[in-house]
Amino acid sequence: MRFGGHVSIAGGLERAIERAQEITADCIQIFVAAPQRWLPANHSEEAVARFLEARDASGVTPVLLHGPYLINLGSTDELLRQRSIDAMVSQLEWADRLGAMGVVFHVGSTASGGRDAGMDLAADGLRQILDRARGQAPLLLETTAGGGNSIGGHFEDLGELIDRLDRTPRLQVCLDTCHIFAAGYPCRTITDLDQTLADFDRVIGMDRLTALHLNDSRDPFGSHRDRHANIGEGAIGLDGFRSIVNHRQLCRLPGFLEVPGFDGNGPDAENLRRLRALVE
Ligand SMILES: [Zn+2]
Ligand SMILES: [Zn+2]
Repeated sequence: MRFGGHVSIAGGLERAIERAQEITADCIQIFVAAPQRWLPANHSEEAVARFLEARDASGVTPVLLHGPYLINLGSTDELLRQRSIDAMVSQLEWADRLGAMGVVFHVGSTASGGRDAGMDLAADGLRQILDRARGQAPLLLETTAGGGNSIGGHFEDLGELIDRLDRTPRLQVCLDTCHIFAAGYPCRTITDLDQTLADFDRVIGMDRLTALHLNDSRDPFGSHRDRHANIGEGAIGLDGFRSIVNHRQLCRLPGFLEVPGFDGNGPDAENLRRLRALVE
């Protein structure tokens, strides 16, 4: 497994590559725009060129973009949904520009109009995004902990959206270990993972799984709470991650940390060291 994590682009896009090297990340996830605002990303041609040069020189690959947290494709608030669509079109265009493997994001919630209406709106939103962003980059739908009627707490949610978009190859899935654990999918032993991934395959298709978020969970199994812990400090624990990083269907994927960090500065060398030490 290639091990990396979410890193900041503060100071310029290419600083993300320097930060990756500081923490020994093989691969990185970045926000290209402020995650809590609607402002689109704004980086010069020169900044993009410096980023690509630094990436190629470092061997840090793949790069994954994470969409803004404000996105909600399932909302009945039409302004919010349209802003979400516009923002994701821009994100996909940036993914192509930066040679990223895609854009991972949380689809949204069906809380405002109920599940059927919310899933209709989300499917329509995905269709609009992919129609307008004419490049190659895929969207990675993220599994969620399932709180607040979020889309992605059941594998069925994501499978249904992919089916409704005629199984376009531009829809893939990012599995977050903290989220599936909190959502109630067992994942701490090889046998548990075999069963959970068989569910995933039946409902979504294992060919769709292209990235992992490797986060321990502060909350217990099935809690539906989304609070990340450092590797080995949560309820999944080191034994759980030993199963995850060595599972034959997962070890080919890039794994990105989104953990608080031992110094509170996000993914760090110690979390990466712990994961690598588990590889058999
Ligand atoms: Zn995640
Ligand atoms: Zn999370």
